[in-house]
Amino acid sequence: MTGGAGTGPAVPPGSRPDIVNRMLRRSILAFLIALIVIASASAQLRVAPVGERPGEVSLALLLRKLASTGTFMETTAHPDDEDNALLSMLGHGRGMRTVLVTATRGNGGQNEIGPELFEPLGVLRTEELLAVHRFDGAEQYFTRAIDFGFSFSVEESIQKWGHDEIVGDYVHHIRATRPDVIAGFLCGGTGGGQHHQASAQLTIEAFRAAADPAKFPEQIKEGLRSWQAKRVFCTDTTSFGPQARQPPTPDLLKTDVSAFDATLGRTYAELGLEARSMHKCQGTSQLLLLPGQGQGRTYRLRDTVIDQAGVAPKDLFDGIDV
Ligand SMILES: [Zn+2]
Repeated sequence: MTGGAGTGPAVPPGSRPDIVNRMLRRSILAFLIALIVIASASAQLRVAPVGERPGEVSLALLLRKLASTGTFMETTAHPDDEDNALLSMLGHGRGMRTVLVTATRGNGGQNEIGPELFEPLGVLRTEELLAVHRFDGAEQYFTRAIDFGFSFSVEESIQKWGHDEIVGDYVHHIRATRPDVIAGFLCGGTGGGQHHQASAQLTIEAFRAAADPAKFPEQIKEGLRSWQAKRVFCTDTTSFGPQARQPPTPDLLKTDVSAFDATLGRTYAELGLEARSMHKCQGTSQLLLLPGQGQGRTYRLRDTVIDQAGVAPKDLFDGIDV
């Protein structure tokens, strides 16, 4: 306080004490503004990619990779269908190679954050998918399938995509990455405009076709070798909503992503939701879990070369040397 009547001696304007006072006030103001800017910037960046954690975390995660030769492939129809918690658990937790093959770029979907639709939306969703993998650690591949919008039948989806082309693309990725275990998206039901069920059906066909050198021989001529994965699953519709409480059947395997990873400082369910929050044009960024929440998806065994048919193992990789 300066210059108030009866509160003390007035400081003449332009005098040395007046200049010091003004400089002091400006410095305090600048400091407060800087604090506000820093606080709001860190509030906007709600989650940090795994690679931006301290060096010893990255090193610990890399060392886990040395302890496993396992490869897991998930296939889906659109960006945001994937099981980010499972990819995080297998990739970061168990040190496996994780591969996601998404049939389309999702250009037939909606956009909650901007004007991009159709092809520009496909570009945006592709970039969001790559941002997702900075959290869950998966490699990304696509097929040639076009997301033409809602479909009422699996047959229409497969006919518009091109049956042989898309099975061939899945076979190509299986032969190139040589997964032990494959999991497609929805086994049945009506969700997602039937692209989900179509991508699962073509994945299950590709499981056997990849091992047959007479199928897609042009790929073998180009240098790829045939490859038989050990088992293929699809994501059971009981993974979602009230159906999740239905009693399990012998061909179902329930994944557990609730384990706390002390190196990452969170559960795989939490990390999966952090990854998923990158699908911003699909409105997923508000879905972050509280610690302790989060259910693993259920997978249905659809084909196998090592198990009794129709009886799912207890773990995706049971009986496979990794
Ligand atoms: Zn979808």
